[in-house]
Amino acid sequence: MSSTLLWFRRDLRLHDLPALLEAAADGAEVLACFVLDPRLETSSGPRRLQYLGDALRALSAALDGRLLVTRGRPEEQIPALCAAVDAGTVHVSADFSPFGVRRDEAVATALADAGVTMQATGSPYLVSPGRVTKEDGSPYKVFTPYLARWREVGWRAPAPSATTAVQWVDPAAMPNRIRRVDPPDPGVILDIEAGEPAARHQWAEFVDTGLADYAEDRNRPDKPGTSRMSAHLKFGTIHPRTMAADLDFRRTGAGAYLRELAFRDFYAAVLAEWPRSAWWNWNARYDAIEVDTDEAAVAAFEAWKQGRTGFPIVDAGMRQLRETGFMHNRVRMIVASFLVKDLHLPWQWGARWFLEQLVDGDMANNQHGWQWCAGSGTDAAPYFRVFNPTAQGEKFDPSGDYVRRWVPELADTELAGGDVHKLKRGRPAGYPEPIVDHATERVEALRRYGQIG
Ligand SMILES: Cc1cc2nc3c(=O)[nH]c(=O)nc-3n(C[C@H](O)[C@H](O)[C@H](O)COP(=O)(O)OP(=O)(O)OC[C@H]3O[C@@H](n4cnc5c(N)ncnc54)[C@H](O)[C@@H]3O)c2cc1C
Repeated sequence: MSSTLLWFRRDLRLHDLPALLEAAADGAEVLACFVLDPRLETSSGPRRLQYLGDALRALSAALDGRLLVTRGRPEEQIPALCAAVDAGTVHVSADFSPFGVRRDEAVATALADAGVTMQATGSPYLVSPGRVTKEDGSPYKVFTPYLARWREVGWRAPAPSATTAVQWVDPAAMPNRIRRVDPPDPGVILDIEAGEPAARHQWAEFVDTGLADYAEDRNRPDKPGTSRMSAHLKFGTIHPRTMAADLDFRRTGAGAYLRELAFRDFYAAVLAEWPRSAWWNWNARYDAIEVDTDEAAVAAFEAWKQGRTGFPIVDAGMRQLRETGFMHNRVRMIVASFLVKDLHLPWQWGARWFLEQLVDGDMANNQHGWQWCAGSGTDAAPYFRVFNPTAQGEKFDPSGDYVRRWVPELADTELAGGDVHKLKRGRPAGYPEPIVDHATERVEALRRYGQIG
């Protein structure tokens, strides 16, 4: 009997997976598969590879081992799998990232040559890129009007896919020419558990204990005020629709949380519409901005990466990132602003380092988060808004606990509370002097940005 393929990518779950419902509707045996693409293995960074491997192991367990993992270029592997199980259709969730679009075009072309159809159902978003447009059909460039229209477009209820009865193909019975590989396991210890059960558990716990205070606490890195759902959303171990269905808008926190999910959709739509903005300024005028790339710039970049700039909040964020692969959103904004406006480095340097380190590293959110800070993105921070890292630290880490947690040199000082940001009475041995004078660099940033106009 012929079969059908369910090719998993950024949707490593069984609940709320429309592509699974579609595959089941074919009425044939389903081969569940994942292709480890060497290009993504290289660019993922060890933490995302670990998350991916752990999530694949969880998915395989949920399928009683009936998940075939292979390695190679998808445009070769997917047609080979179709030939091995005599499949006429490949079901996927749509991928809108520039890389994913190019990959899927190549796979669809290779499949068409073999008479196989590739069918995309659903996507990783509440509202897929391209669906929220102005009346004249053009894309939004500003978040607030996008948000209003996004709400009107809306989304469906979660898909009841987990309970679908499916006859899965047993990978052990596949021909020998199909090479099976183990999911990656680079031996990294993650500070969150990966996979669908963990994602659902984390979300349920946040709804119970964190959501009510989210609007107030989400900007406070010294509190556990955010959901830590970003990596789960990145790998699709939970769908945002499942999460939105749990939001009770009569209670505080729900509206603020939904707005962040809308931001995620917005940046995905912006990147899909303008794929060049992955590594170039969305606002091309900023391609001409004067940036430093000399030896001194490289040394400053190194100090930033190591968390040794002498600015406590910047150093705490960079060390949290290096040690755990996560950084609080407010601190991401502070360290990004510091790299761009105090050190005058290209935002792409910082974005690349983030992608190497982050467990939630995501092209749309990261590249556009950076460009928001650099002032070169869609509705970016105005260029004249230059974060003062010390004032930001005092405002958003008023207890100083965040800094003391991540910068051990400052943990033992007798500086009470938020005084740890100013270090008025001097610096403990081993903690660096500031590598720049913020007031001077602010003027310099304004000069450079002013030239762009
Ligand atoms: C310079 C910079 C780089 C960033 N890089 C990434 C990245 O690579 N991957 C990533 O997922 N997020 C990125 N963000 C956005 C944000 O910092 C993270 O999504 C957030 O910190 C994740 O923590 P959380 O899940 O606890 O967030 P919560 O506050 O609980 O937010 C819930 C979810 O909403 C989404 N979200 C929240 N804030 C944003 C935002 N500003 N833009 C888009 N989506 C958002 C995320 O999916 C997040 O999981 C970046 C932000 C900046 C300023």
